[in-house]
Amino acid sequence: MNILIFGPNGSGKGTQGAIIQKKFNITHVESGVLFRENIKGGTELGKKAKEYIDRGDLVPDQITIPMILDRLKNDDCKTGWLLDGFPRNPEQADALEKALEEAGIRLDFVIEISLDRETARNRIMGRRLCENDNNHPNNIFIEGIKPDVKDGVTVCRVCGGALSVRADDQDLAAIDKRHVIYYDAINGTAAAVKYFKDLAAADKSLKFIELDGTPAVDEVSRVLIREIS
Ligand SMILES: [Zn+2]
Repeated sequence: MNILIFGPNGSGKGTQGAIIQKKFNITHVESGVLFRENIKGGTELGKKAKEYIDRGDLVPDQITIPMILDRLKNDDCKTGWLLDGFPRNPEQADALEKALEEAGIRLDFVIEISLDRETARNRIMGRRLCENDNNHPNNIFIEGIKPDVKDGVTVCRVCGGALSVRADDQDLAAIDKRHVIYYDAINGTAAAVKYFKDLAAADKSLKFIELDGTPAVDEVSRVLIREIS
């Protein structure tokens, strides 16, 4: 089962991706991680990518797409994969789709977790990190995973441990910068999503799944698992 997943930062895309990956025993391929692995491993593509990153430039698709394809051809992707973080615009969507077709790799599902921009921003700012275990989700804005309050202090809802706030999560400018790209329906990720939505409408072998990211994590994953099972 080969899947492409989309969703704005704060939509719970990472959490849902992890659930799907475990449930269906497929490999989670995250484009940001892929860059770091290739650079660390000193691969030819990694070296080329690093030149762009060091200059503060975007890595061109002619480097990113072969890197992704190499990864998807690995043995651990034979049972399936979930690609996250790419494409981010319609040109990349088109280039990826053509590259997959050329490589004989089929795409089964395209998932979009939709959430309005304001809610997505609040969710990012509401994240609280458990200092005992960063897999203990706490968020002051999400029903079901709100932290506990003990003696007037918010503590981890799972273990009662101390909570902290990640500086990145409170950086409004940084959050907005990512969201501007995501929600751009002409040149951004929203346009890439539409590209695949249109493709699925014309091709019965590809299923497009749009999920409302508003409900609790368990509710979203229940719907998602039902749709792809
Ligand atoms: Zn905890």
